[in-house]
Amino acid sequence: MRSIAVIGSLNMDIVNRVEKAPLPGQTIKAIETSYIPGGKGANQAVAAARAGAKAEMIGAVGMDAYGEILLENLRSSGVGTDGVLVKQDISTGLAFITVDGVGENSIIISPGANGVLDAKDIDKAEKFLDEPDLIILQNEIPYPTLAYVLESFAAKGKYIIYNPAPALVPPENIYHMVNLLILNETEAAVLTGVKTESIEEVHSAGKILVEKGCREIIVTLGAKGLFYMSSEGSTMYLQAFKVNVQDTTAAGDTFVGAYAAAIAEGKPLQEALRFASAASALAVTSKGAQTSIPERADVDIFLAEEGR
Ligand code: ADP
Repeated sequence: MRSIAVIGSLNMDIVNRVEKAPLPGQTIKAIETSYIPGGKGANQAVAAARAGAKAEMIGAVGMDAYGEILLENLRSSGVGTDGVLVKQDISTGLAFITVDGVGENSIIISPGANGVLDAKDIDKAEKFLDEPDLIILQNEIPYPTLAYVLESFAAKGKYIIYNPAPALVPPENIYHMVNLLILNETEAAVLTGVKTESIEEVHSAGKILVEKGCREIIVTLGAKGLFYMSSEGSTMYLQAFKVNVQDTTAAGDTFVGAYAAAIAEGKPLQEALRFASAASALAVTSKGAQTSIPERADVDIFLAEEGR
């Protein structure tokens, strides 16, 4: 069994449920406010640990109550937190999420400590990066830090999974350092400049990404499933499981963490894809970010029931 390090963001999601989102200048009352641990990095670490992997989180929080709650939540999910720095004079990352009566949401991210994670912090956390064989990265830490991680750890032979979310166009020279790119349809469109509405268009986008230097790519397609392509020319399309959707928050993060856990324990490709699809299908059946990420036992039961 190989182990996993996630280098990325930790946020407290402050979710306000409202009837109608406020207009400029308007003050409104929330129907309900919830505080839910989130941040793409932390979500993926929790997904990997709950899927059964040994997972370590590398990142930063502020010296405040939110940071303490996020760290405690990671530990209770089985994620190692010794590589998370506690920074003075800056807040823990926050996401202010407004969900209106028809389920539309708008989000303001206040990066806080995530936004100042730098190369020196990565050096400080280096001893927690010796053992893990797989490293997972996203775009919620500063780009120069991400580039530093890629250059340092690709050279050491680590298997790098890059989830370019939220979408931004990275420099062309990073693709050859990425073993596996996992991205959704929107991100695939932003990174390639081609439309990704049909499966043929997703196929073309996949080809562009492989030609840029990625060895494998997975484009997640929400309720439509996923598309896989490797630089050796193999392709696969897998449908999503049919479930009752409550909230799709963290579907992609659950997929990334669960897939990493599956390959860390040596599952073959198709089985790993099916496992991650099941974990993320279960995640959309309940609300919130880390609150919705399933445990291994529940994924195994779901798969056994689906397989009958
Ligand atoms: P993101 O959250 O990054 O936008 P997606 O929406 O593509 O990611 O979802 C990631 C994966 O989660 C999908 O490939 C699929 O396996 C699963 N998933 C997402 N939405 C649904 C859904 N409505 N029903 C079943 N599975 C889903």
